[in-house]
Amino acid sequence: MERLGSVYILEERIGAGAQGDVWKGHKEGSEEPLAFKKLRPELARERNVIDAFLKERDTLERVDSPHVVRLRDMVTEGETLALVMDYVGGGDLADVIRKQGTLAPGLVASYGAAIAAGLSAIHAAGLVHRDVKPANILMDDAATPAAPRVADFGVARICDSAASTRSTGGSAGTPLYMAPEVADGLPAAPSMDIYSLGVVLYEMCCGVPPFTGGPAALLKSHMMMDPGRPDGVPDVLWDLIGRMMAKDPAARPTADQVGRTLTDAAPGLAGLPAAPRLSSPPAPVPASAVARTVLGTPASAPSAPPFSAPSAVSASTATLPPPFSAPSAVSASTATLPPFSVPPAPAMRPGGPVPPPSGVAVDRSAAPGGSGAGAKSDEGENGKKKGKKKRSRGPIVALVLILAIALVAAGAIGANYVQRLFGNRPVAEPSQVGPAPTSEAPPSETPSASDDATARASASASASASSSATATTMPDLVGLTVDQAKAKLPGNVKVTVVKANAPNGEKEGTVLSTDPAAGEKIPDAVTLTVAGSAASVAMKTVYLSDLKQLDSFNGFEAKAIEMSGKTYAHAVVTTVYSGSSNQITRTTEWNLGRYFSTLNGTIGITDTSKEADATFTVDFYIDQVLVRSETLQFGEFKDISLDVQNGLRLKIVVTRTDKNSDSASVGFGDFQLQGDPDKVPSLDDLNKNN
Ligand code: ADP
Ligand code: MG
Repeated sequence: MERLGSVYILEERIGAGAQGDVWKGHKEGSEEPLAFKKLRPELARERNVIDAFLKERDTLERVDSPHVVRLRDMVTEGETLALVMDYVGGGDLADVIRKQGTLAPGLVASYGAAIAAGLSAIHAAGLVHRDVKPANILMDDAATPAAPRVADFGVARICDSAASTRSTGGSAGTPLYMAPEVADGLPAAPSMDIYSLGVVLYEMCCGVPPFTGGPAALLKSHMMMDPGRPDGVPDVLWDLIGRMMAKDPAARPTADQVGRTLTDAAPGLAGLPAAPRLSSPPAPVPASAVARTVLGTPASAPSAPPFSAPSAVSASTATLPPPFSAPSAVSASTATLPPFSVPPAPAMRPGGPVPPPSGVAVDRSAAPGGSGAGAKSDEGENGKKKGKKKRSRGPIVALVLILAIALVAAGAIGANYVQRLFGNRPVAEPSQVGPAPTSEAPPSETPSASDDATARASASASASASSSATATTMPDLVGLTVDQAKAKLPGNVKVTVVKANAPNGEKEGTVLSTDPAAGEKIPDAVTLTVAGSAASVAMKTVYLSDLKQLDSFNGFEAKAIEMSGKTYAHAVVTTVYSGSSNQITRTTEWNLGRYFSTLNGTIGITDTSKEADATFTVDFYIDQVLVRSETLQFGEFKDISLDVQNGLRLKIVVTRTDKNSDSASVGFGDFQLQGDPDKVPSLDDLNKNN
């Protein structure tokens, strides 16, 4: 119990996000539960942030719709700013997707219509949400069936725009759901929320968002790719998602139009089965040429566009309503660009890529970056449930994003540069590779064996026809195998292959970036950076369990554990004996000495735990900044992958959130720190400091 202001009482912490902790509580003298979001001290200390909230307070509080989580009050007290909201008790849409895998089309339509109605109320008040994602759609279990309500509107936008970049931490919108023009530096607009809702609808349909990967890869995908079509998504939903995710903001429908389309479609969709749950999305397909101009891609593009669509596809555009059939309206950001020399109506419809040909075996694992979100190979070994969703929040992500956005906004730089800047730095010696295929490259796939290859082959048919012989500008080779990439380069070009860590689990041998980038003139020698296997890229690995904790008397011990039937020989575990009436928190810290770049491992409740109803929150901090927060229940384990570049201190806080009495243990299985072998000292030396 903790007081907030003069009238509020906080009972328990129920969550944590980019902007701070969320508490459940009530107003003195009232039984109605309320939720309180206490902004992180770094944010609350920014005078600008407080001012912006107070300035917009009336507008924010005026949004009153059954489809939004209403902001009731704001409390400033000392160094805290707390937002007082309706408490919504049914978890969030992210939980629903995690538990159910995919939702039936009828449910997608009815949930989508409710969310669109919430957005419509927000937009009508002149606000933009800016952070539409499943975690911000709360499920109201006071209604039957539980009804989605939009939470946190305006919070991300205010925190982003008002705070200095130094302290915004993870408040930038989640790049998984981020509209491409956000990276273009365009001001917040309702159409950004529509794009994000399109991504959410996609995820409801097939269980995963359309693009995966790290921040830089996601930025690039949002800008340059259209989502791949999953099986089992009815045309009416697919067409709507395509229009909502149009690269051109002006081509997207309004929230009202989305709501109407979904409401109208719902009866026809009732009874249809949910689509199969995917562990990674189908390969995205290159977006239309107009989308590429939005990015400021050099206008010197060749007259044969790299991604002009084959004519066979154009038939599919005929069925679309006119405003969306051709990207004729070019967004404001393109106005200053020299005219693009490409015919203006590429047949690829916005967001409506070619479905994989029926009867063709589709190898989903071939999707570029598609296995990024927790699709580790041990999955399914024991048939247990597993956290799939990669949460891309946290200050490191935000910093990278903010930098990227700033650079793109400066207009001097296109997506290729973003990719080069934030892409993978080669960590191995370059190996010279002649024009002939080498054993380093995996055997190239036949186009029909992979939807990635199929999509690319068809989408770039016209480009590849000429490129191998006569092209003078670099084609986009990212996502191809080395052999496929070489085939697209003139034979006299010397190709050097450099291996790098695949940041998003790209398949070994997949091209991650090229030097020079696509669109630039082909020089005599070209460097391809390709994904290496974990083994081929020399990184020094240290088990977290071997690294001394700063204080060893804190209840965390290093030992082997089992989680969901799997043994982890190198684990750290903490046992919490009783939930009692209060939350119990355990904290430990390690000195990382800025030596490491990544931390990977699996968290879960150990199999020997007595209390099957135990629940935990696990928070990871790097240098006092919360970079990841996960909840755990019995039988569930989650893969964690953190960017710890330059991190000095790793702090882990485990909070038991149930009130049951038997003991339960949280395990950190095989957590590995990886760093540059030239920099990471020996384990003895590392432990001397601690
Ligand atoms: P996120 O970045 O995941 O949206 P938030 O700080 O907004 O983080 O919320 C963290 C968690 O707190 C949510 O996933 C949800 O479980 C819980 N939460 C947030 N707002 C409310 C609310 N109004 N009522 C109940 N729970 C909430
Ligand atoms: Mg939220």
